[in-house]
Amino acid sequence: MIRPSDDDHPREECGVFGIACHPDAASHTALGLHALQHRGQEAAGIVACDRGQFHSHRGQGQVGDNFGNEAVIRKLPGSLAIGHVRYATTGETALRNVQPLFGDFEFGPLALAHNGNLTNGLALRRQLVRRGCLFQSTTDTEVIIHLIAISLYSTVEDRVIDALRQVEGAYSLVVLTGDSVIGVRDPLGIRPLVLGRLPGGAWIVASESCALDIVGAEFVRDVEPGELVILNESGIRSVKPFVAQRQRFCIFEYVYFARPDSVVEGADVYEARKRIGRELAREAPVAADMVIPVPDSGVPAALGFAAEAGLPFELGIVRNHYVGRTFIEPTDSIRHLGVRLKHNANRSQLAGKRVVLVDDSIVRGTTSTKIVAMVRNAGAREVHMRVSSPPTTHSCYYGIDTPERSQLLAAAHDVAQMARLIGVDSLAFVSIDGLYRAVGEPGRDPARPRYCDACFTGDYPVALTDQGQGRENYALSFMTEGH
Ligand code: AMP
Repeated sequence: MIRPSDDDHPREECGVFGIACHPDAASHTALGLHALQHRGQEAAGIVACDRGQFHSHRGQGQVGDNFGNEAVIRKLPGSLAIGHVRYATTGETALRNVQPLFGDFEFGPLALAHNGNLTNGLALRRQLVRRGCLFQSTTDTEVIIHLIAISLYSTVEDRVIDALRQVEGAYSLVVLTGDSVIGVRDPLGIRPLVLGRLPGGAWIVASESCALDIVGAEFVRDVEPGELVILNESGIRSVKPFVAQRQRFCIFEYVYFARPDSVVEGADVYEARKRIGRELAREAPVAADMVIPVPDSGVPAALGFAAEAGLPFELGIVRNHYVGRTFIEPTDSIRHLGVRLKHNANRSQLAGKRVVLVDDSIVRGTTSTKIVAMVRNAGAREVHMRVSSPPTTHSCYYGIDTPERSQLLAAAHDVAQMARLIGVDSLAFVSIDGLYRAVGEPGRDPARPRYCDACFTGDYPVALTDQGQGRENYALSFMTEGH
């Protein structure tokens, strides 16, 4: 199988963007997608609507590869547009899976782009295929398209709601119709979606606020869990058709996914990461000469750690930003080469020193193992590792592509074993309570956790129907939530 090169990492999710009532809707969407590129580099697509006519361009590769050319944008006229950047979390790598997906329905054209992952997508797909629906792609998102198509409701809005009442899982969607852009978040608000406005009045929905900044839009608010915002010539209308549930936003967005210059769910991501670093320094102090981030994801937490510990912060590892995602075989030897291509030790800083490495997470342990060896080879006397998330013990089924559980280092090893495997003098992870404190909570309330933290706790807030875990558990989770 051919996969991108630095693939010992799990993958980012996807990013979505939608804009209504702007004469350059497609170019703004392309810019918004540029700002969301960190959420998916495998493919990008835009669909624009010009007086009821849809125009689309979708392709594999990054936003610049697909939309860097003005001629492409000129072929996407219209005042409404939606876009998507993708890293596959379900579905094989193929052009037919590149979003937005679109089709011609009884009521006219509709396009849809999805960030997240449905947990009953397979079960629904089986039912739909039995009923005669012909699937064009292998993505779970297409299930929503078919459910909209077969809905017996008459308005587009009601059909979308009808479809979403049947799906389970995590979704932030942007939907394009002949006259509106609709933004939707799942009832638990697992994935982010923000609402913004341009000075001229055009409305925007986007995965993160950094996509508003790039086009000069003002951040208005987060789209609420279970809310649909309908953006069109008449302005904005909000509908909340689902049974209200307690929000469970993905805490890993703060740890790793969101861009540090974004504000999501009311918290500044950069500041949250620095606070996690401070918690970590308090929970697991260490005598050392300097704090070194694993770039780039470890930088804000390392800054917080260094400030709290009163230690110098040094760039002891330098990252090459131009490695890119060349397509090569993911054999073990190439994988390891991938890590060395990306990071290099800054010898002058490391020789003879006791260093604390700070990274955001350990998933398979491949990155840490290589980096620790590299730092030791560069002459470091002691290497301590501090991780700004709790041990990743469970896979994510809500849109973050983590490897299966058997490949997660923390699923089968305790911290001491992990320290030996990675080759460090000491290893510590921030506690789950410390992580919650860093994002403004007193700690994790096990009876009513504020966030989705399933990757650290195994507490999955939405039934994993496709994994064979059925409705019974779902009913239970409704009950414990008091509904
Ligand atoms: P691993 O090498 O498998 O232990 O992965 C850990 C490294 O991957 C850390 O340096 C993280 O910054 C990074 N990482 C963590 N989660 C993800 C993800 N979902 N997608 C891409 N990289 C990730």
